[in-house]
Amino acid sequence: MAARSAIVTGAGSGIGCAIAIKFAAIGYAVTVNDLSLERAEAVALGIRTTGGTAVAVAGDVSREADVAAIYAAAVAVHGEASLLVNNAGIAHQALFENLTVEDFDRMFAVHVRGTFLMTKAVLPAMLSAGEGVIINIASQLGQIGGVELVHYSAAKAAIIGMTKALAREVSARGVRVNAVAPGPINTPLVMELSEDWRAAKRAGLPLGRFGEPEEVAETVAFLASPGASLFVGQTLGPNSGDVML
Ligand code: NAD
Repeated sequence: MAARSAIVTGAGSGIGCAIAIKFAAIGYAVTVNDLSLERAEAVALGIRTTGGTAVAVAGDVSREADVAAIYAAAVAVHGEASLLVNNAGIAHQALFENLTVEDFDRMFAVHVRGTFLMTKAVLPAMLSAGEGVIINIASQLGQIGGVELVHYSAAKAAIIGMTKALAREVSARGVRVNAVAPGPINTPLVMELSEDWRAAKRAGLPLGRFGEPEEVAETVAFLASPGASLFVGQTLGPNSGDVML
């Protein structure tokens, strides 16, 4: 296993982009995955131009064949991954009565199936090596629920459950699994939610502002660090004080 090789999904934008840049800056060779090759390549190029190591790999994390290809490409370039960040995600807002089965299935496919498939891909080598870190990007809406976001909230709650259950299975074998549940963060995804939703959310935040992607990346970097050795199956919340557990 390469000592410091990371795969970050959905890293062509927002939080995933900030995470990829952060890990490259602290010495990881980063595989930048995104649905969009163009976005992934722009992030990887940015990392390389500032002296880091990164490769772009397009693929849809909800598709088994794509996940196999993402993993194979990452291993071919950087060796087995010592870190996986399951970050890829989508936003969609609708009242429950207007949600379709297709909306629900797509939400679960990207977030839950994607996290499951990517984890299945990296875990065997991590278990063989007796070390590895997996960090799943959930959302505080998986903890408290969000209006017009039943499918999103349910998918994020599933990710938190998956994190805890897998952490119980594999931590004694050297693989630490944790989740990060951000509050509202200034990214293109949050701009897809209605202005009313964003204004109401902002007004209720103890900190009085949305977070920045780089602030979430700091939490992820902490969880990946040796300093987080006792964090197992936890869900950390960089959320401007919106959720206090
Ligand atoms: P974003 O839209 O800026 O970036 C998400 C990226 O994921 C996009 O580049 C998109 O192309 C990619 N992507 C989408 N589906 C994919 C797929 N099937 N396979 C591979 N890549 C795919 O969004 P963001 O705000 O940076 O969100 C990143 C993660 O953080 C998501 O899981 C999101 O649910 C979560 N999150 C975001 C917020 C927020 O307020 N922005 C809050 C809590 C959690």
